[in-house]
Amino acid sequence: MARDPKYDILFDKVKIGPKVSPNRFFQTSHCAGVGSERPGTQAMFRGTKAEGGWGVVFTEFCSIHPESDEFPYTSARLWDEGDVRNLRPMCDEIHKHGGLSGVQLWYGGIHSPRLESREVSRSASCLPSNLLPARTLYAAECDEDDIKAVINMYVLAAKRAQDAGFDLLEVTAGDSTFPVQFLERRYNKRTDRYGGSLENRARVYIEIMTALKKACGDTSAITTRYEIDTLQGPHGLEAKDEGIRFVELMHKEGVCDLWAVKIGDYEEWGEDAGTSRFRKSGWMLPFVKEAKSVVGSTPVVVNGRYTSPDDMVAVIRAGIADIIGAARPSIADPFLPKKIEDGRPEDIRECIGCNQCVSKFNQSGLLNCTQNATAMEEYRRGWHPERFSRAKDPCSVLVVGGGPAGMECARVLGERGYDVHLREAEAELGGHLRNVIRYPRMNEWGRVTTYRQLQLSKMKNVEVHLGVGKMTADDILAYGADKVVIATGSHWATDGLGAEGHGTLPGCDASLPNCLTPEQILAGKPIPGERVVVLDGDGHFTGVSMAELAADLGKKVTLVTNMSDPAEYSQFTMEVQNNKRMLHEKGVDILRNHWVESYQDGKLTLFYLYRHGSALIDPEVGRMPRHESTAVTVLDVDAVILVTSRVPNHELFAVLKQRRGEWEANGLQGVYKVGDCNAPRQISDAVFDGHRLGREFDSPHPQYPLPWIRERQLWGAETVPALGDSRPAVEPAT
Ligand code: SF4
Repeated sequence: MARDPKYDILFDKVKIGPKVSPNRFFQTSHCAGVGSERPGTQAMFRGTKAEGGWGVVFTEFCSIHPESDEFPYTSARLWDEGDVRNLRPMCDEIHKHGGLSGVQLWYGGIHSPRLESREVSRSASCLPSNLLPARTLYAAECDEDDIKAVINMYVLAAKRAQDAGFDLLEVTAGDSTFPVQFLERRYNKRTDRYGGSLENRARVYIEIMTALKKACGDTSAITTRYEIDTLQGPHGLEAKDEGIRFVELMHKEGVCDLWAVKIGDYEEWGEDAGTSRFRKSGWMLPFVKEAKSVVGSTPVVVNGRYTSPDDMVAVIRAGIADIIGAARPSIADPFLPKKIEDGRPEDIRECIGCNQCVSKFNQSGLLNCTQNATAMEEYRRGWHPERFSRAKDPCSVLVVGGGPAGMECARVLGERGYDVHLREAEAELGGHLRNVIRYPRMNEWGRVTTYRQLQLSKMKNVEVHLGVGKMTADDILAYGADKVVIATGSHWATDGLGAEGHGTLPGCDASLPNCLTPEQILAGKPIPGERVVVLDGDGHFTGVSMAELAADLGKKVTLVTNMSDPAEYSQFTMEVQNNKRMLHEKGVDILRNHWVESYQDGKLTLFYLYRHGSALIDPEVGRMPRHESTAVTVLDVDAVILVTSRVPNHELFAVLKQRRGEWEANGLQGVYKVGDCNAPRQISDAVFDGHRLGREFDSPHPQYPLPWIRERQLWGAETVPALGDSRPAVEPAT
């Protein structure tokens, strides 16, 4: 099908310095955890996006020198020839599909952890990092030779980037990097010509861009990513003040071929990568709209988790930006542009704004995606997001349970040509997501279901049966399917079972009126009284959502957690600050590092996890080998909401296994389990589980994953650099 002409504007070519982007789709730099260390994964992950129509595809942030070492996090690197060799395949893959490749040149200054290189970073002033204060991170204050040295590092890295094949060389002045450490008053305490006035503080940033323009600008586009508002008020850069005045200063110099404009500094990264719980698509526009009027015909990129082509067109027609930047929408659907071009935008797998992707990077892991199970698996498992191998031996498959894992498994099996029946007990697909999307702020997560529902409905070889009630083992044996996939999900513990002590909680029993699980609340069980405690031993979104839900009902809420922070996982999804702001706004009290001794007669007795003494005493059977404390905190409570742990619904699978002897007589060849009924996990893991089983359904033992390609140095292989090699000088000659 041809694309709708109203979207033609999205496919206009855009000139970026000496380069031309084939369209207005631009994958801005985003973390993935691959860097230069996993060249195959990097190449195929980014290359697949170019294949899917993204006109420009960037690396993650790319360290220009060992002084700016992000380890234990994984950045790309352009430190030496070895990195050039490992990033070149990415450029080749992008070029193969007609895209432009971009690299984000990063020098972190005081925020570089440097746990691998142990070298000293440099910055405007010698200050401790406000991002990683507990790590005793300082950078050395630059003298003018140091400034020239760092500028040289940018130039040398840019030349290596050209050698690797990169088309766009982007200086990042996002996330409080070196240029911003000079630009922002709070980082720059200098009194020389690089400190004081805005013109002085802007000098380093402009000198870096000028040096790159001179060294590489004839053949490469020299671009920047710029945080126009750090969201710190007058303490940082403000869009209406120095934020826009800097754009004027730099634009006058004519050294920038494209502006990728964002908001939020490193501390407020979660406002740049805003989650759908707190930010709806396009939230940055009020801040970035000024930039275009200043820079004239120089292209401006705006991000904002755009997944709707209509919204994208509106932004461009309004003259706010020329190019639609995207990180997460390009992860969730690498083929988003192609689907618009092919006239099937309804097939776009829209990002849900959950930030699972970046949460994995923030744990020093590899990115994964709730919506797109193939992200990062393109090379190591050979998975393409839009292509599926045909089933070697097509057969009929019954999938029991229409939650995330069941839906995804049925979708993949359907794409592969199996004859699939997906049977869901309830009247709607979604599994536990049916509840989750009714928590406050969570409605965008419903896209996990709606995308799969539509795709399943398009496949003639897939039947979806809703509202069929719970299937028994007898039902399944009599069903007549060749193979069965059990995807029956999980439920919240009704007795307080959780990670803390791995035991149930005395007096906590959700069969009582004053004890509730999230499922019961969503099913309409009333929360009695005024004083409500949410017991959060889960640490993700459910505990804070229940607290918000109860507070919105007018309850006086206390969130009790065994962790050091409310919704501790949100430090990884970067919602931690906004979770705290929200809880504060709603008047929710927080008790950290506490757990439950008992809940009796409206008294919730809590203990501090670290109440016993720090010294060890001689061991004795039946006693804690510390000076024991019996100190407790007792709260008068009308209701307790149990968000302690989830319990797998695995009974059906267990019974079917027990009745293995009856399989053959019923024509049943295999029974498998996926998702939470195997082990409760995050939704991204459940989707992955279902996807993997579908992809490997005709392997010898489908329940167990096939090996994948592991990218690491094999002993005896060449190292680059080798011991004794020299490093190009960056310091000016003295
Ligand atoms: Fe979007 Fe969530 Fe996927 Fe990240 S993990 S790209 S936020 S759907």
